[in-house]
Amino acid sequence: MVTIKLKEVFYLPSGRVFLYDCEGYLIECTEMRDVKTDSKEHQEVRETTDPTIIWKHLRPYKEKWLLTVSTQKGCPYGCQFCDVASLPFKGNLTQDQIKEQILNLMWNTPYVLVSNKVKIGFARMGEPAHNLDNVLEVIKDLPRLSSGCGRNFNWLPCFNTILPRKTIEGYSGFEVIDHVLDVKENAYNGFLHFQISCNSTNERTRKELFGGAEVLSLEEIVEYINSKKITNRTVTLNFIVMNDIELDFRKLKNLGIDNGKFVVKLIPLNKTLNSEQNGLETYANYRNYEKLLILKNQFERAGVPVVVDSIAKCEEAGLCCGQLAQIFQ
Ligand code: SF4
Repeated sequence: MVTIKLKEVFYLPSGRVFLYDCEGYLIECTEMRDVKTDSKEHQEVRETTDPTIIWKHLRPYKEKWLLTVSTQKGCPYGCQFCDVASLPFKGNLTQDQIKEQILNLMWNTPYVLVSNKVKIGFARMGEPAHNLDNVLEVIKDLPRLSSGCGRNFNWLPCFNTILPRKTIEGYSGFEVIDHVLDVKENAYNGFLHFQISCNSTNERTRKELFGGAEVLSLEEIVEYINSKKITNRTVTLNFIVMNDIELDFRKLKNLGIDNGKFVVKLIPLNKTLNSEQNGLETYANYRNYEKLLILKNQFERAGVPVVVDSIAKCEEAGLCCGQLAQIFQ
């Protein structure tokens, strides 16, 4: 049964944002190609919004394809940096509604038949921890969905969460970790990307950034995951790096992060309507990328495993999570 209906498609140089009507509510999903920005030869793409230059630096679908789907109608939280926060929250999507987004992304891209890495984020609209059972069932079903569409895909599911202390379904944050790690280790042989949004090493600031959400503390997260079996992909602690927001590598070091289980990711702040209204400013962007590299170096010297997100001007071009739904809702 078809439960979502295509309303609009928007085009970026690297992909598309689809808007679907789901029982009168507009939800978003995306398909993008990776833009190579990491080495010197990609310098020109870091500083442009010219599509003809961006096209030259797109990674082939066969190497990597990036998908995101929504897991809820809106989100119960009001994170200061995210435009989904401004939308009304109307509850969880069903398994079928999530699967239909994935099937539509494949049907709308019929020329991608083989890919060594299809990274799918359950993180367009919604907090997936609140829809845990449905999201994890969909993740387990991905190989069947793609082979049913005649695709030969190597999936890398990505579960990105702020780790609420208690979910709508009644799971504690620790139970969410247990269930995600169970699918990671047992269904995906460790190749599931578990990303936890952290954003500050100050707990009060974290809570403010998450719009007052009750989340597990960094201390609880690190202590609990340190005690778990983690193979292949390490768990990522995401920090959007912003001016005047505490990010102290010594505090992280003192939490006793197990380097075999965690990596810290430093991410520039995307320009969103909400982040501007809340006066949040990115610490670095494509113009002063070296600031982020210097910060990375400090983490490395302290012995904290760290990666930095690539930065390109085109990624600031709008169409962040929730922006289109907000315009058309
Ligand atoms: S960042 Fe995630 S949890 Fe926060 S409002 Fe946006 S979708 Fe919800």
